[in-house]
Amino acid sequence: MSRAKSHQLHVYFLPMMAPGHTIPMIDIARQFARNGAKATIISTPLNASHFSQTIERDRENGLEISISLIEFPCQEAGLPEGCENLSSTTTPEMSRNFCRAMDLLQEPVEKLLRENHPDALVAGLFFWWANDIAQKLNIPRLQFYGTGFFPMCIYNTLKEQKPQENVESEYEEFVVPGLPDEVKLTRRQLSEETKDEDKSPFAEILRKIAASQSTSLGIIVNSFYELEPAYARHYREVIGRKAWHVGPVSLFNKSNADKTHRGLGNFSSDDNCLSWLNSKKPNSVVYVCFGSMAIFSAAQLLEIAKGLESSAQQFVWVVREKAKDEGKVNWLPDGFESRIQGRGLIINGWAPQVLILEHEAVGGFVTHCGWNSILEGVASGVPMVTWPLSAEQFLNEKLVTEILKTGTPVGAQEWTRRTDDQRETIKGDDIEKAVVKLMVGEEGERMRIRARELGDKAKRAVEKGGSSDADLKCLMEEIRNYHP
Ligand code: UDP
Repeated sequence: MSRAKSHQLHVYFLPMMAPGHTIPMIDIARQFARNGAKATIISTPLNASHFSQTIERDRENGLEISISLIEFPCQEAGLPEGCENLSSTTTPEMSRNFCRAMDLLQEPVEKLLRENHPDALVAGLFFWWANDIAQKLNIPRLQFYGTGFFPMCIYNTLKEQKPQENVESEYEEFVVPGLPDEVKLTRRQLSEETKDEDKSPFAEILRKIAASQSTSLGIIVNSFYELEPAYARHYREVIGRKAWHVGPVSLFNKSNADKTHRGLGNFSSDDNCLSWLNSKKPNSVVYVCFGSMAIFSAAQLLEIAKGLESSAQQFVWVVREKAKDEGKVNWLPDGFESRIQGRGLIINGWAPQVLILEHEAVGGFVTHCGWNSILEGVASGVPMVTWPLSAEQFLNEKLVTEILKTGTPVGAQEWTRRTDDQRETIKGDDIEKAVVKLMVGEEGERMRIRARELGDKAKRAVEKGGSSDADLKCLMEEIRNYHP
């Protein structure tokens, strides 16, 4: 039986415990609540502490949204106490244990859902078992992978047709067949999982995730139709899966309070960085940030510092974590800080990324190509220097540099796991060249014009009646009319 029109939907959200997954899913949950649903976010104490203030503010403003806490089984999974987020893992073994811990959440989540019987469960990528719970309760399970149509289409072809197996070396380019555009890759740009799933330490869980696709209602995508129309269609019509594009979800954050509290930080809007940006001319600063997970060596940080200095451009550079080999190698050249005074700003830790990207002084973004960062860059209308590291970032780079043509690559060639110690070092010279190309000259200007046009389309997509706004409403209607 479908639910009556007047029935208020109650949707549970279970985000994966990693910033790149939690941040957009919180945005989506809040948007469901703004559209009249009751939203409950399942989280663990430490993770929830990063967004509880925002949810409290929503409640004061009359939204029906809340957080339901479950404990994270650190001890049972062999993780140190307080390791409740994937970004806190530093070795492959810890990451594997983290996956075990997420598996152990099945029982408490099932208990919670049985007690509250919502209308739908939106669960993150690794919670393959969410489908079993949803089936038992006769409610739909929706997946959230945190990536876009373009990379999902490529992954699907690589999995089904395996063009990566028909090359003679890791360096030989191959075409990904059957896509709307000619996309070429090398094996070096692919994850271990994609090259040989059986050899991956995550093989079993990946198989379970793949199997769970067929029993979920579909996937919610942080994208907008106008960004990747051919791939949004390919995913639905050729691959044949249901999907709803609802983004860019960062644009759901309208107030400065929402933007500053998004993620792991807690900045006030008169933060040093913003007043510094206020003193700069439009499009004169490049923002450099590699997301929430990347771990760089001190040697690499040193090359970034050299590249930024010799580019002669103004910059904001986020250094999230001190490098593993710090102490052995200086990560800043001698006298760097005094030389860049007034020209460059280093943020140690978490930056209010959306606020920075939206600032009119920011004219370019050096990014690791995490999907959220790409979408936030697109939504802010800035061109990018692409520097992929792991996950699906090499595919995202192709979208930006070859399809959208709003970015230029720094030249990274080799996929590495984020916890790997061995990663190619990108030289300061290459960083300088890419930054100068982006910020100065005609090619950079052409990319900036295209980026600005895309940014306008992104904003229209989430406005009332825009493509993403409409798709979110369709999804809510589909949940309302769901009968198994
Ligand atoms: N982020 C931020 N401040 C930082 C670093 C990251 O706000 O200093 C946010 C960023 O805006 C994005 C998310 O963290 O929403 C990172 O997600 P992404 O997919 O770009 O990369 P990941 O961290 O998953 O590699």
